Amino acid sequence: MAYTVTLIPGDGIGPEVTGATQEVLRAAGAPIEWEVVHAGMKAFEETGEPVPAAVLKSIRKNRVGLKGPLQTPKGKGFRSANVTIRQELQLYTGLRPVKTLPGIETPYTDVDLVVLRENTEDLYAGIEHEVMPGHVISLKVSTRAAGERIAKWAFEYMRYKGRRKISCCAKPHISPMADGAFIDAFQAVGQDYPFIAQDMLPIDNLSMALAMDPMRFDVLLLQNLYGDIISDLCAGLVGGLGVVPGANVGDRIAVFEAVHGTAPDIEGKGIANPLAVLSSGVMMLEFMGEQKIADRVNQAIWRVLEAGKKTTGDLGGPANTAEFTAAIIEEL
Ligand code: ATP
Repeated sequence: MAYTVTLIPGDGIGPEVTGATQEVLRAAGAPIEWEVVHAGMKAFEETGEPVPAAVLKSIRKNRVGLKGPLQTPKGKGFRSANVTIRQELQLYTGLRPVKTLPGIETPYTDVDLVVLRENTEDLYAGIEHEVMPGHVISLKVSTRAAGERIAKWAFEYMRYKGRRKISCCAKPHISPMADGAFIDAFQAVGQDYPFIAQDMLPIDNLSMALAMDPMRFDVLLLQNLYGDIISDLCAGLVGGLGVVPGANVGDRIAVFEAVHGTAPDIEGKGIANPLAVLSSGVMMLEFMGEQKIADRVNQAIWRVLEAGKKTTGDLGGPANTAEFTAAIIEEL
């Protein structure tokens, strides 16, 4: 049986890296039929909308999507296209596994942590206004319901994956109500999971501790903006934005995407690392129950990384996107 999956190629390097991902998954025999729809700049130019209704409709129908990074038209009053998709589909958990990979030189040898980012609230609610000239207010939204929802998701995920310790990190001394509500929700839900170790850490302390000893962390539960920043920091621990995959998960729908953005500086040069989106595709296969194919693709990736000769420039290799992709396919 073939699964129909929504594919959003995206902007910037998006079409290059999603294209590479399609090639590898096809070569691995993944039973996927792609339903291609456009969002972001390309969609805006064609339809005047960064996220046309057809995009949301396709994802709602298929329940699973793979997405390249999206650029939002600037200065036109549009909410970020990436944020719109997460909010409209209530993909409330941003799941980003950050793991040391073979063959990539980094200061740490054994990082294995998961960043869970609340995807729907916080400053991303986009409620900003100028109360008088030169005075801007930006609202940080934090509801108990959203805090409980992602905390529950986090604990259930840990139970399923056998993860042992969760750290909920925020800044409650500065933002006692908004961050306090998130932490209260975490503690309340955590009472049902006494067998999972739980702690809380100020977000600034977390940043330092991650730089000094990332191996002590297992799962991080963060609000939206902290999660965005810490995800990039964590990517830096394992080889950069070119390698970290992700998923945006709701109760019935999941959209898989890399942590990185459109990387306009390398767009069209054919040198982008496809691994982050490809690994997001592997997470998608696991989500759909295609574990065997997912394992095969992962093993092919690891062999190419270990050999180190056909990786992209961001990983210190000499290859371009096409050569890296071909090397993975050869290993399959
Ligand atoms: P956006 O505004 O869409 O977030 P950005 O350029 O601010 O885009 P990213 O796209 O996340 O942020 O990228 C930051 C930098 O990391 C890029 O300039 C690029 O050099 C590098 N980078 C990101 N993704 C990749 C990739 N897949 N392969 C190689 N380099 C990458």
